[in-house]
Amino acid sequence: MKRALVVGGGIAGLSAAFEFQQAGWLVDVHEASNRWGGKIFTSTVGEDANARPVDAGPDAILARAAAGMDMVRTLGLADEVVHPASKIPAYICFDGRLHELPPGTVFGIPTDPAVLDRSELLSEQGKQRAADDLDMGVNPELSEGRHDPSVGEVCRQRLGDELTDRLIAPLIGGINASNIDRLSLRSAAPQLATALIEHGSLIRGVAALRNRSGPTLGTERAAPVFFSLPGGVQRLVDALVNRLTVPSEDSGFVPAALHLNSRFDLNSHAGLSTATHSHDAVVMAAAPIVDMAYASVSQVTIEVAKSALEAELDTSGILFPAAGGTHLTACTWLSSKWDHYRNPDTVLLRLTSGRYGDDRANRLDDETLVSTLLDELGAVVPIAGRPVRTRVHRWDHALPQYEPGHRSKVDAIRTEMQEQHPNVALVGAAYDGIGIPACIDSGRQGARQLITQLQPQGAGL
Ligand SMILES: Cc1cc2nc3c(=O)[nH]c(=O)nc-3n(C[C@H](O)[C@H](O)[C@H](O)COP(=O)(O)OP(=O)(O)OC[C@H]3O[C@@H](n4cnc5c(N)ncnc54)[C@H](O)[C@@H]3O)c2cc1C
Repeated sequence: MKRALVVGGGIAGLSAAFEFQQAGWLVDVHEASNRWGGKIFTSTVGEDANARPVDAGPDAILARAAAGMDMVRTLGLADEVVHPASKIPAYICFDGRLHELPPGTVFGIPTDPAVLDRSELLSEQGKQRAADDLDMGVNPELSEGRHDPSVGEVCRQRLGDELTDRLIAPLIGGINASNIDRLSLRSAAPQLATALIEHGSLIRGVAALRNRSGPTLGTERAAPVFFSLPGGVQRLVDALVNRLTVPSEDSGFVPAALHLNSRFDLNSHAGLSTATHSHDAVVMAAAPIVDMAYASVSQVTIEVAKSALEAELDTSGILFPAAGGTHLTACTWLSSKWDHYRNPDTVLLRLTSGRYGDDRANRLDDETLVSTLLDELGAVVPIAGRPVRTRVHRWDHALPQYEPGHRSKVDAIRTEMQEQHPNVALVGAAYDGIGIPACIDSGRQGARQLITQLQPQGAGL
């Protein structure tokens, strides 16, 4: 029987381990910390009897990327999947006021210039400037793959600075905690790059993306974009760990050996050589092998009495563009976004701070961070008194920054690894996409490649 070593017990590593087990391999997984899941982490907010589990990391999984739903189905969780409340607006905080994210925008890009008509977020000039996109050609260097521009470079040129800074930066930059002027269009928003090249315009491209994406094409209701699991995304990790360690009896699979508090030396080739001697294949699903820029973020989750709010806001959340100067980058209105967080007496909010190039939040102690974020939110959504419950979670070096040239850099690292250690695969958020489905896919693909490569000649005939 062949034996695989997986380093890193986040979703990418566990998915790789699952793939090996399904192929009948023995698997050892080593995780440096004392828990499984990496960036996926659900913990209770508050310590009293009514404290509830709430995600401190990801809370939403992209439904349209197949790998996430496939894993959920395989693990028998499909019946429990929930979707965010539809038709509730998201807001952008600009000039000290809340502006509704214009309906008919995708990643902040209008599907038609007319969808911006009623928004006060942009000046008339800014709205007109956005329409220039429709008549611009596409730079052949981009369409031929010779240039990897930043999201900012392309959007500023085609749609203007106003729309880019006020709508696109908080959305695309927000997901990655990035400065969009240093974020690769091809690697961080590949669907936008493809849409632009195919349709010769970002506006026409996102309109086509929106029409294509729902199975109920042409009707009012589009398919939900995201899903989650009541009890938190950690349930996906727990189910995966359970399946790895307790495979069904009739499957014939051997339980994987999972080791917590087991740090692997990532910096030495000697470590890799030892690993490849003791194991037929090694999947590195931990920190990246090379230097990479990372953003650190903090999540402050608060539960507030409804009576403390002047008016209840039915929203999925509020985005705070960098130009506003706040520490706050986003406020996710969890109890409106997800039904399972609704409560008759309280609202549950998650306040995110920190983005690449802005680590002010890191320098504040917990108490100061909470009061700073509450003050900043309070300027647009007045809250009387203190939260009933609070949790602070710091994510240090959490979100890899895909700078222009990312894809070539990754290809070069993988080629070098293939030459020096052909039985080692590099997977996870540092390489192939930061979203959960992308990480699942990366882990499974990395394992699958090694399984195919190491399959005995003639096997399966
Ligand atoms: C605050 C936040 C919110 C997010 N929100 C979303 C969201 O809503 N939707 C979404 O799809 N994605 C979201 N993401 C992104 C997504 O959660 C991550 O990109 C993904 O979970 C990363 O998975 P991974 O397995 O590649 O890496 P990780 O989860 O980082 O796992 C790597 C593991 O390797 C371990 N490790 C490191 N070094 C070693 C070593 N030397 N030896 C052994 N083990 C080691 C680490 O302890 C860690 O457990 C969010 C991320 C953050 C931080």
